[in-house]
Amino acid sequence: MCSMLNPTSLQPASAITAAATPARAPGRIYNFSAGPSFLPEEVIKQAQGDIWNVEGSGIGIMEHSHRAPLYDKVLAEAEADFAAISNMPKNFKVLFLVGGATSQNYMVPANLLGQSETADYITTGYWAERSFEHAQMYGHIHEAYSGKSTNYRSIPREDEIKYSSKPVYVHICSNNTIYGTQWHEIDASGKPTWHMRTPTMPDGAFLVCDMCSDIYCRPIDWSKYGVVYAGAQKNLGVAGTTVVAIREDLLERRPRELPEMLQYRVQAREHSRMNTPPVFPIYLCGQMFKWIIRQGGLDVIHKRNIAKAHILYGVLDASKFYKPAATPDSRSLMNVVFRCPTAALDDIFVKEAFAAGMDNIRGHRATGGMRVSIYNAMPDAGAKAMADFMREFERRHG
Ligand code: PMP
Repeated sequence: MCSMLNPTSLQPASAITAAATPARAPGRIYNFSAGPSFLPEEVIKQAQGDIWNVEGSGIGIMEHSHRAPLYDKVLAEAEADFAAISNMPKNFKVLFLVGGATSQNYMVPANLLGQSETADYITTGYWAERSFEHAQMYGHIHEAYSGKSTNYRSIPREDEIKYSSKPVYVHICSNNTIYGTQWHEIDASGKPTWHMRTPTMPDGAFLVCDMCSDIYCRPIDWSKYGVVYAGAQKNLGVAGTTVVAIREDLLERRPRELPEMLQYRVQAREHSRMNTPPVFPIYLCGQMFKWIIRQGGLDVIHKRNIAKAHILYGVLDASKFYKPAATPDSRSLMNVVFRCPTAALDDIFVKEAFAAGMDNIRGHRATGGMRVSIYNAMPDAGAKAMADFMREFERRHG
């Protein structure tokens, strides 16, 4: 497979190299993986040093006790920076948990839904389906919308969502990593404004959002949410911790007995330190939060993400060759999914892109084609390199 090859040993196809390979850090290629994914160079460099000796302690970050003052500082800064980046209100708690975002599929209903209560799920893709399925063990789980019949190519309009009579909460997935769709406000001409749209909620319900693949790609209006969760391995760092932001009053819901490790309330009380936490992934989240702050915050990051997405969707919109997966009103800022006219051309595209220094673009088996993930850390130059490559590929194969 492509990713087994050493790209530096390949002779890039002469027709595509000049435009497709602007400056990159030596020894690195553009990694468009859907996750785990590209990290900012300066974060990797900082971590390299800190793995050896962090803050002059003579001990590497992975070797420090999770009860040491150094880790107290790492954790306190990560919590504070996470909150500061998005002006998270004081009545929210941020937790750094384990078990991946997938564990939130059961932790959310186990902690928040009584056995005789109902929660509504809006299933806009594979991961949202998984959340819906895994929740079934607790309470009544109602599917308020399913995008399955239209191959998950868009986010539902308000009138397509059919809520149950009194859901405790509504669960959505803000960005569908596999299908390349994302919740957006839509302007009068039907185009996305790229600001988050949340569904209008039934009275009394709170919103639970899986933000795995788009957290901090844009500002967050916390007043819309009860719980937000995200595995760290896309916009926040590396696999190993899942960030959960939960409204404080929800910590008091106790619909059933649960082991302490699975209780949000206990994890909040213990500052995510019930047991030995994944120190390095949490440290790396902290470094990513500092990186976001250094970039100028979420408004700057959001503008940059819009610009990168325009570069790639511009190529798709101007092309009769490529077939985008998502409808224009629902297309994602993070995952650009498309295919060539044939599966054979998709294969050639993936191979030639790799030869030109761009890897991990094969689409998920559910969609086929390509998926180009341009999370926060992907520089403009990466999106431009891919766009140039796409135009040149179309010229040669179209
Ligand atoms: N939700 C979404 C939107 C995802 O993209 C993913 C992983 N790609 C998950 C959930 C599952 O995350 P994890 O592997 O951390 O359990």
